This record gives sequence, structure tokens and C-alpha cells, in this order.
Amino acid sequence: MKPEDLVLPSVAAINPYEPGKPIEEVQRELGIGEPVKLASNENPLGPSPRALEAIRAALAELNRYPDGASFELRRKIAAQIGVAPEQIFPGCGGAEILNLIAFLFLRPGLNAVIAAHSFVIYELAIAGTGAAAKVVPQRPNLTFDLDAMAAAIDDQTRVVFLGNPNNPTGTIYRRAEWQRFLQQVPPRIVIVADEAYFEFVRDRDYPNSLEDHDGNRFLITMRTFSKIFGLAGLRVGYVVARSDIVRLLNNVRQPFNVNSLAQAAVIAAMDDAEHVRRTLDNNRVGIEYLERELTRLKLAFVPSQANFILVDVAAGRAVYDALLRQGVIVRPMNGYGLPRHVRISVGLEDENRKLVAALGQVMAKVRC
Ligand SMILES: *Cc1c(COP(=O)(O)O)cnc(C)c1O
Repeated sequence: MKPEDLVLPSVAAINPYEPGKPIEEVQRELGIGEPVKLASNENPLGPSPRALEAIRAALAELNRYPDGASFELRRKIAAQIGVAPEQIFPGCGGAEILNLIAFLFLRPGLNAVIAAHSFVIYELAIAGTGAAAKVVPQRPNLTFDLDAMAAAIDDQTRVVFLGNPNNPTGTIYRRAEWQRFLQQVPPRIVIVADEAYFEFVRDRDYPNSLEDHDGNRFLITMRTFSKIFGLAGLRVGYVVARSDIVRLLNNVRQPFNVNSLAQAAVIAAMDDAEHVRRTLDNNRVGIEYLERELTRLKLAFVPSQANFILVDVAAGRAVYDALLRQGVIVRPMNGYGLPRHVRISVGLEDENRKLVAALGQVMAKVRC
């Protein structure tokens, strides 16, 4: 008897999530002094200074348990987006909540619909429940085909996971397509609109799914403090949903899923408009620079609405390895079914320059 025989086959078969390679690991393994990490869509400006101040103030209370209801945090988010606090569910990163949603609504015999080349956590969360993933191909230009996703829904479907913008493509679906999707999908389906990068979007036709919470459907909007707010290490995300869905999520979470430093920090960060503005400025300039330089290097890329860019380098893993040796960490995309590509996060100006210089050298070798 093996322990694998005691668990769901889909769980035994999981390949665990492979995060961006940590800076310390590159230093340790390759002896590189100061590698540039452009692998995890982190905020290159660092965390909000106000968040750091709030953390310092909260340190002395670490002997106490956090507020298990995250009362102030829910109140603050609710007030800012104009919903009731009962509609806000915070979690240990958006990733925890995606897992809880799968845990709640899926089980063996049921399925969830996802797009190919979307966030790997959706697949892992689904596999963890023993449900099946119905994977719908993207269009050739790497955008979601929402009509095809709606058509993939069957009697056993319970959840559809959508990323808008999608990670790792950086693409969005637009308002008209989204409205048509909402009309096609039966009201019993749980629709998860993962908007981890929504603050970065510049396209005017972007549908903010919060506008579609009319109470008649099972729509869940996910947001996170890991990206624009620069607090990935703290692990805080949240969803907006009907209060009856939030109540169910509360039934399956652990009692203190958002720690006290995290609660204090994100409450403070939400008031730091200056940090958000600087982040958006840096990202806009960075994306424009990268798109210009990639064009100069004759590399095809997917136009991005987020803080990263997907680039066709022909041999993703080899280019990733070669860039590592030059001290630049990007993300290989084999796990996303895109072996030709790497995903590059926008960094600070000098980090972007270092990436471009290294990529120019590496591609010159790969191509000859
Ligand atoms: C980063 C990200 C999240 C949430 O990340 P957390 O750090 O767990 O909050 C969710 N969805 C996508 C597509 C992401 O890229």
C-alpha cells in the first residue's frame, strides 16, 4: 500500500506550482551577485511605505491572534468599491480563495471550464477536488474565446475561471464579448472573474466585472494586493461576491487566514495613492520601452494590458537558462503549454535595460 492509493488520483498526479526562481537561489546556485528578478509580476518599486509603517506599528501586538473576521479590512474595501462588507471575502492571497472556491463547488464527477494558457492555479485547484478541467483553446492571437467557453459548459459544469487580464498572456476580453458571455451562461454557474491585474489595464473597452454584480448570478470578482500594491510577500487577496457565497466561503476557510500584519498593511496601502500612481507610471513607460526593444530585436510578443509581457523566443527554456546565467530571471512557460515563450515582468528602468541587453546577446547565439 502506498499513500498515493489513499488519495484522489488527480491529486497524486499533480505537479506542484513552480514559482518564479527566487533571487537567493540564483545567487546560491550560479554565484551571481545581484540578479534582476523579472519573473513573478512583482512591483519593482517595492511595497508602499505606508504599509511598512503600519506593519512596524502592529509588531508589538504579535502575541494576539488577528481579527479572524478581518472586520476593518472588509469595511475599507467595501467602502472603496461601493458594496456591503458582507460581500467581501479576504484570503491568504487570491490563490487561497481560488482553492476555496474549487473546494466548495467541485467534486469528482463535476467539471470546471478554463481557457488554455491561463493561470496554472486554476488547474491545480480543480485537480485538488477530483473534478475535471474542461480546457478551451484560445484564439490564435492568444485571446480568450468566451463564446467557445460558454459553449463548453455542460450539465456537470459548476465553475468557469476567467483571467482578465489573463496571466501569462496579458490579454483581455472586451465589454461586448463579456456581456454576450453573461447572457449565454446559465445562472447556476459560478463565474470567477480573476482581475489580479485590473489596475494596470489601459484599454477603454475593459469590462470591470464589479459592475455586473446585480445579485442575480453567481459572479465572483477576485482582486489582490500582490501586484499593484507591491505586497506579494504578505499574502492578501479578496473576492467580491453575493453575501450568501461569502458565507459559504467562511464555512471552509481556516479561522485566521489573513494575519495581523497583513491586515494592517493593506489597510494602509489602500490610502497610498501616490505609490499606486508611481507604479502605474513606471509600468506604462516600462511596457512601451520593452515593446519598442522587442520589436527592434525582431521578437514577437503579445501586446499586454498588465505588468508583464509574453515573448516568443522560439526556445523558452533554453533562453530562460541563458538569461539566468546573465543574471536575469524571467519565467519559462512550459508549464503553461507555451514552450516557445518566456514571460517577462516589467522592472525598473535599469532592470529593463539589463534584460534587453542580455536578451539581445542570448538571441544572437540562439539564432546562429
Ligand atoms: C498573481 C495572481 C493572482 C493572485 O495572487 P496572490 O498573490 O495569491 O494574491 C491571481 N490570479 C492571477 C492570474 C495572478 O497572476
